[in-house]
Amino acid sequence: MANISTEAGLRGAAPTVGIAATRWRAGALLEQGAAFTQLEAPTLGAPAAGAAGPDSATAGGERFDVVVIGGGQAGLSVGYRLAREGLKFVILEARERIGDSWRSRWDSLRLFTPARFDGLDGMRFPGSKRGFPTKDEMADFLEQYAAAFRLPVRTGVKVDELTRVGQEYVVTAGGTRYLAAHVVVASAGYQKPKVPGFAADIDPAIRQLHSSAYKNPSQLAPGGALLVGAGNSGAEIAIDLARTHRVWLAGRHPGHIPVKYDSAVAYHLVVPLVFRILFHRLLSVDTPLGRKARPQFLAHGGPLIRVKPGDLDRAGVVRVRRVGGVSEGKPVLEDGRRLDVDNIVWCTGYQPGFDWIKLPIFDASGRPDQYRGVVAGEPGLYFAGLPFQHSPSSAMIHGAARDARRVVDRIARRIRAGAAVQVA
Ligand SMILES: Cc1cc2nc3c(=O)[nH]c(=O)nc-3n(C[C@H](O)[C@H](O)[C@H](O)COP(=O)(O)OP(=O)(O)OC[C@H]3O[C@@H](n4cnc5c(N)ncnc54)[C@H](O)[C@@H]3O)c2cc1C
Repeated sequence: MANISTEAGLRGAAPTVGIAATRWRAGALLEQGAAFTQLEAPTLGAPAAGAAGPDSATAGGERFDVVVIGGGQAGLSVGYRLAREGLKFVILEARERIGDSWRSRWDSLRLFTPARFDGLDGMRFPGSKRGFPTKDEMADFLEQYAAAFRLPVRTGVKVDELTRVGQEYVVTAGGTRYLAAHVVVASAGYQKPKVPGFAADIDPAIRQLHSSAYKNPSQLAPGGALLVGAGNSGAEIAIDLARTHRVWLAGRHPGHIPVKYDSAVAYHLVVPLVFRILFHRLLSVDTPLGRKARPQFLAHGGPLIRVKPGDLDRAGVVRVRRVGGVSEGKPVLEDGRRLDVDNIVWCTGYQPGFDWIKLPIFDASGRPDQYRGVVAGEPGLYFAGLPFQHSPSSAMIHGAARDARRVVDRIARRIRAGAAVQVA
């Protein structure tokens, strides 16, 4: 298919660490107040933390207390907490720069969360709390965050395998191995573009791309564009494209927030209600309402946050039924209509992209079997930033801190328990 970019245990036992390191860790945990003070007074532009180097560089690989995979908001939030606990860790990030997953999104993208919901633990988003940052401002904020707290991020390191040997996890990136009793996978649920199988039967003359590869209208051929998938990405790209193309948006309407999004009512009332209460507390794996809503969120995403049906109408976007297949190289809608378009943008979401995790932790749907980030079947293994890990906010900026705190609390408790056993 043309133009589709595919970026994209210690079961009850103590961690395997030497006695000296164990004592150091127990001490570090008691002294975490000192680490705190340093972290609460960040120095922008300071060098990356040398203190968070490996315990030892062994022939088998570098050894850490914790290896974090992924240096987006979820991984950095975990890193912030690990640093406060005084643990030795590294964050491995596949991209060349921290924030690149935001930078690579489409040119006109502004966050749908106002800046007041875009800060992370220990650092608020700069500027007006009411503004909607650009994707590049968000990317730069993440880079500044890592620098301010001296988080040990290694960029350009793509993990290609996670396994366990005995009681230790082995993380492999290229020829390099990292060893740890604890691993946090924070590589997001948005890594591998998902397109329906029938996309392969589309006429090669029709230009196709996935929303993850969309930057601006100049990538498309002149003429008509069909956007498949009417969630937030589909609706926002539809508005972007409607300036230059005739646009059809195919798919079920997922609902929307029914107030003017940049109004005072939205800012003071509706947005806090949706993000802080509904997406953060009411809908969660611990509430009946949340458990009922979770499959819907996982399969189709949430409601439209910023765009409303009226915005689409005013932009001239034509809403059509779902695409059900292909006939003679053209997309066919569920109502049998065949659309003669020059471009298709698949806004059909992502697969988790966890095929590099060689551990038996996946359920029948291919998702990690975890509760609030803790994988019961693989002690010492954790996730952060999964869609609806705890609630819809788990995969949003304002939910990253809470999930990170919980996962790191578990890790610290486990290490303390291990230290107590070994010292005794
Ligand atoms: C178009 C779009 C707009 C959004 N807008 C908002 C918004 O306005 N507000 C909001 O709160 N949320 C928004 N979100 C949701 C969410 O906040 C973002 O998707 C955010 O980037 C998720 O952060 P993360 O750290 O979980 O994942 P990512 O930002 O994707 O970070 C994961 C990192 O892991 C790295 N990685 C992946 N695999 C590996 C590997 N094998 N080895 C090493 N590193 C690896 C990646 O390179 C990446 O940097 C939006 C999402 C999308 C798709």
